[in-house]
Amino acid sequence: MALLPGAAAMRAVRSPMAMGSALRGGLATMSTQTAVRAPDASTYDWTHDFDLLTTEHVSERALTASLYRHKSTGAEVLSIDADDENKVFSCNFRTLPKDDTGVPHILEHSVLCGSRKYPLKEPFVELLKGSLKTFLNAMTAPDKTMYPVASMNTQDFRNLVDVYLDACFHPLIRDPVRGPQILKQEGWHYEVTDPQKAQPLSYKGVVFNEMKGVYSSADSRHYRAIQRHLFRGHPIYSIDSGGDPRAIPALTYEAFEAFHKTYYHPANARLFLYGRPDELPISERLFMLQVR
Ligand SMILES: [Zn+2]
Repeated sequence: MALLPGAAAMRAVRSPMAMGSALRGGLATMSTQTAVRAPDASTYDWTHDFDLLTTEHVSERALTASLYRHKSTGAEVLSIDADDENKVFSCNFRTLPKDDTGVPHILEHSVLCGSRKYPLKEPFVELLKGSLKTFLNAMTAPDKTMYPVASMNTQDFRNLVDVYLDACFHPLIRDPVRGPQILKQEGWHYEVTDPQKAQPLSYKGVVFNEMKGVYSSADSRHYRAIQRHLFRGHPIYSIDSGGDPRAIPALTYEAFEAFHKTYYHPANARLFLYGRPDELPISERLFMLQVR
């Protein structure tokens, strides 16, 4: 899905999968592990890898919020303690498009099409089918991309976090063979409709088709026109991060891969964890992010 600025206009990607872990020596260097659960998460001394920046009690919501920074990459982690059965994780990046090709939106779909540790065709779909999740999706806004998951089951939650982290930091889109195929599938490709016709080729693709639907909606066109005029000439908010179907076919694999390389880095990430401290102690929360 692609979100519209300010409004609840995000579109969701599809469905997810389940598993669990992520940042050691830098999220960017996570290695392939088998088990989702770290054996020594409960004894993990996070102070070697993270700095605690601040803690605040939010009395009106009965929450305690703590902000951590990963020492070697600068990734920021907001951890919330709450008396809630739900456990929530979200991996978020600042993503700033330069044109209407929809590269943030296409990337949002594409990173969920298999990763180094989970080289399935569509891990997201497998998660949707098999996870006990209470939420699983991804959203593209004009200036950021978010990958949130939630579950009331602790092991399921670990799995979801593991799949999502691997998807964000080690997606198969960076593979020189699979990457261009995923772009064609999720972004755009040519399709022969009728060889006898004067124009036998048409454009197809998951996001291309999705955005054709969006651009066929009067409400959506109205919203986009307002946005474009309110932010005329603005380098970010005058752009459609979801993708204009007229511009999507201009997206190359090189630009697609470069966008991931530029923005999907721990230093550009803001991570969010939420749950009960007895079910999900801070040592385990930070361990999940650390192990890769
Ligand atoms: Zn979408």
